[in-house]
Amino acid sequence: MTRPSFHRILLKLSGEALMGDSAFGINPETVARMAAEVKAAKEQGHEICLVIGGGNIFRGMAGAAAGMDRAQADYMGMLATVMNALAMQNALEQIGVETRVQSAIKMDQVCEPVIRRRAERHLAKGRIVIFAAGVGSPYFTTDSGAALRAAEMKCDALFKGTSVDGVYDADPKKVAGATRYETVTFNQVLASDLKVMDASAVALCRDSNIPIVVFNIREPGNLAKVLAGEGTATVVQNKE
Ligand code: UDP
Repeated sequence: MTRPSFHRILLKLSGEALMGDSAFGINPETVARMAAEVKAAKEQGHEICLVIGGGNIFRGMAGAAAGMDRAQADYMGMLATVMNALAMQNALEQIGVETRVQSAIKMDQVCEPVIRRRAERHLAKGRIVIFAAGVGSPYFTTDSGAALRAAEMKCDALFKGTSVDGVYDADPKKVAGATRYETVTFNQVLASDLKVMDASAVALCRDSNIPIVVFNIREPGNLAKVLAGEGTATVVQNKE
């Protein structure tokens, strides 16, 4: 089945996508590989917004489970996403792709604050905009940040790069014979609690009518392929 091709996309990568084989942190070789994927996609003519998680460095929930105040731990998680954004900015610029980082927590010496109209100008000039620090508030995740930025930047789709090639009716890493959906509705994802993104992010995409394309980012060349409407992926959308 051929999928539609989308012009302006928001690509969401989890922090773990930058980790490589390490147990945590940023692996420069892996970041360089991700940057090359993004560059290839850009060269196909797409406008790209990027959101990267922070789970490879710090997750608020883990801090809270270890006895920290949840909000305090979440702010640490947001700072982790800024580090990942800077790592990706560095990797992209080393291969000649112009970028700007905009953070939902102001950090004037490091990057720009989130200013939607300015982000629009960056895209018009062919730059990639990397949105950091999620929505800028604790008790949220970068999935929600990705859905929010996709909505305000009027992206045609939210591309969620994961380590599996789509959405399955059960965890394919645990259940043999789990089947992959080619398309699935937002409501089915929410009702069956299918693991796509946080429920709040899924609901925001549903209400803004922004399809979520779930695909495997670990397979080399896959982002460009899926963007061209080829390869394996699942599209979460409103229509049946
Ligand atoms: N976070 C937050 N608000 C946001 C985005 C992120 O509090 O809007 C914190 C939260 O603690 C989260 C951490 O930052 O656990 C890292 O983000 P996330 O878990 O979404 O990263 P990913 O799983 O995508 O690597």
